[in-house]
Amino acid sequence: MLDKLIKKEHAAGAPNPGAIFDFEVEKRLQCMTCKRCKYKKIAERQLQLTAPVAPNVEKDTPVELGICLERFFADTEIEGVQCDHCNAKTTFTQRSRFITFPKVLAVVIQRFVFDDIGPKKLEIAMQVPKDGASLDLQAFESATKGELAPGEEALPTGAAKMVEPTLDQALLNEIIMMGIPELHAKHALHRTGNNDSNMAVTWYFENMADESLN
Ligand SMILES: [Zn+2]
Repeated sequence: MLDKLIKKEHAAGAPNPGAIFDFEVEKRLQCMTCKRCKYKKIAERQLQLTAPVAPNVEKDTPVELGICLERFFADTEIEGVQCDHCNAKTTFTQRSRFITFPKVLAVVIQRFVFDDIGPKKLEIAMQVPKDGASLDLQAFESATKGELAPGEEALPTGAAKMVEPTLDQALLNEIIMMGIPELHAKHALHRTGNNDSNMAVTWYFENMADESLN
């Protein structure tokens, strides 16, 4: 379906047809102890969403796309991060917002989950509003375009470490023992918040699945 859209755009004479999916996202991190913030701008072509359902959810359970989006843009907490400004080992909050919007928003729903037996595929029924306009993406727009808001103070640049917090070695081992190469395991663990090996493995399988489709 994405290929079709790109071809259509190409036929319409667009110089860079793939650009219809391009957008920028800000990731805001805030230390809960000293309240200082860090913003990062990330170029994206799709949103990786997770469905808020249990692994044993019944087949064809309806899940609304809007709920998955809300979950993606909700504030999340990362525990046990060392802050380079106040030196506390503390909790950071993380939040994502759109800096720019794509012409066409591509979303990928993570379909692999883990239950007691192993990985399985969620067969949920995504509910997408017929009228795209009823999904209010403006609510997830950055007010400051990836910059500090008035009154916010920046974390020192050396604090970039916080974007990639030290990975939990025990969790990392769990993932590697499931047969996932170390580099991929580290990447997956980092991308999923460094606090849940199942989530990291799910992320890995989902992304490998995408890769094999390309
Ligand atoms: Zn701090």
